[in-house]
Amino acid sequence: MSKLPIDPYELLRRALAAQIDLGLSDAVIGKSDTAKHTLEVADFAVAPAPEVVTAVEAVRSETGTPQVMQGSIDLMGQPRFETLELHNKAICTCLLCPLGQTRNKFVYGVGNPHARLMFIGEAPGEEEDRQGEPFVGRAGQLLDRILAAIQLSRNDVYIANILKCRPPGNRDPQPDEVNKCLPYLREQIRIIKPKLICALGRIAAQNLLATTKPLGKLRNQWHEFEGIPLWITYHPAALLRFPEYKKDTWADMQILKARYDNLV
Ligand code: SF4
Repeated sequence: MSKLPIDPYELLRRALAAQIDLGLSDAVIGKSDTAKHTLEVADFAVAPAPEVVTAVEAVRSETGTPQVMQGSIDLMGQPRFETLELHNKAICTCLLCPLGQTRNKFVYGVGNPHARLMFIGEAPGEEEDRQGEPFVGRAGQLLDRILAAIQLSRNDVYIANILKCRPPGNRDPQPDEVNKCLPYLREQIRIIKPKLICALGRIAAQNLLATTKPLGKLRNQWHEFEGIPLWITYHPAALLRFPEYKKDTWADMQILKARYDNLV
């Protein structure tokens, strides 16, 4: 069944509604050059830095046989895949860390496989674990509204997490779990080749940057992950708990979108 074209007024209405939802009193349409940023230091707890992982056996097929593509091992000894589908299929039964035993569903990632912008969160929550898709609960709905506020949708970007399986009770990922799982995310990034990455929240930012600095010291500046410019903002779940951060998030998104719009 063919899709009906979306009314441009409806698109505009959604963008304005999303901006209002982010706590703005003045609506912004299109590019903004007034995204002045007030840095509010969010002194969240600090997690230990991750160690480097080189486990080639991280990727196993459903039969438990390592599924390494011929001639496609990277310098870290990690297998490489031609597509996200092949990669997902190879790792979706992973039991490398204890979270593989307690998950309901493996949560690989979702979005445009050719996305120029990739969002990376922490780990699946209860709803994500139930549905097998990242950011589908209330935080996911808020992320959709944040994307709409900068005239983007899930079809434009790719969304994944540091961990593919839910930590029980939504506790923070443990360093060993991150060490085991991060090569999967690296491979996703290698396949997608995004031009920009946006880390959502402290856990994603700290693990991508291998730092224990608090979020407030990491935000409001560009970093790099594997040579790709990395921007950091609050996790939508944090915005649900602390709505006062929405204004800073809006400023973050304006800076991110300005760079996105200027990509060649
Ligand atoms: S969290 Fe990652 S490393 Fe742990 S079982 Fe799931 S996929 Fe494997």
